[in-house]
Amino acid sequence: MIIILKSGSSEEDIQHVADRITQLGLTPHISRGEFRTIIGAIGEEGAALPEQLEQIAGVEKVMPIMRPYKLASREFNPDDTVLDIRGVKVGGEHCAVIAGPCSVENRELLFDVARQVKAAGASILRGGAFKPRTSPYSFQGLGKQGLEYLAQARAEFDMPIITEVMDPRDVELMADYTDIYQVGARNMQNYNLLLEVGQTKKPVFLKRGMAAPINELLMSAEYVMSRGNHQVIVCERGIRTFETQTRFTLDISAVPVIRANSHLPVFVDPSHAAGQRELVADLALAGMAAGAHGVMVEVHTNPEQALSDGPQSMLPSSFRRLMERLRQIAELSGRRLN
Ligand code: PEP
Ligand code: MN
Repeated sequence: MIIILKSGSSEEDIQHVADRITQLGLTPHISRGEFRTIIGAIGEEGAALPEQLEQIAGVEKVMPIMRPYKLASREFNPDDTVLDIRGVKVGGEHCAVIAGPCSVENRELLFDVARQVKAAGASILRGGAFKPRTSPYSFQGLGKQGLEYLAQARAEFDMPIITEVMDPRDVELMADYTDIYQVGARNMQNYNLLLEVGQTKKPVFLKRGMAAPINELLMSAEYVMSRGNHQVIVCERGIRTFETQTRFTLDISAVPVIRANSHLPVFVDPSHAAGQRELVADLALAGMAAGAHGVMVEVHTNPEQALSDGPQSMLPSSFRRLMERLRQIAELSGRRLN
């Protein structure tokens, strides 16, 4: 249930309402806005009646939520969530571009790509150190060494970094390196992993499973948030359909649907959806035009020899042109790129 407090509530009033919610067997999640405070009361269905909550001093209104997700819902937070990732703002009117190679292959490649995407205007650097590959015989990533290269690139190019976490046991190790935990499409419903990153204080970039409806993506965001970490970005990266011309089908409608139902920032990853670099720019632009808060794009200086996802990786020169057009679309829709 969503509990809206009277405007001008003091810290004492807020605490009183939170205490009463706890006494009723629910867990309060407080969201302090500029003008009013909203508390999400989470717990077993039927644990408390809306009338019981309405009686609490300081409460203005109680709204039962029908959606299965609560903390991730627009009702819980009517304003867009804006994250600040080492000075890069994401959400609301703030848009950002994440770019880099699919995998961290070696230091030289990572630095080369980082230098060029930074110069083109990307604000966050990506690179996989632990790779979820369809075949156990494919390159699996450099592991800890890859994380070290990423951290060095962050220092050199002054860009926050994002890298995928596949195993709950790696969450702690990765905290020393990454700025954002990426949870990949294949792990969107790895609930232990979601709960583990939910206990950290770092943003989580949650990719939509290739066969997951939007509601299930938002339920996975809810898992992370239920542990206290409300810094979640969700990402549409293509779903399985009957179409065979692209690797996956980029579900553009997911962007406005998520924005209508959730306050969380939404990204689009056209690279993994398309599977071919020729389509990436158009899909990235479509995602931004549909209201995404940013895109994640794979870039490689020598895609022909990439150890993963070469066919969909853009060359730095095409990425530079894409950045200019993304900037124009963001401005046209009253938003701005970092
Ligand atoms: C990736 O970002 O490199 C990746 C593996 O993405 P996804 O989980 O969307 O397939
Ligand atoms: Mn990839």
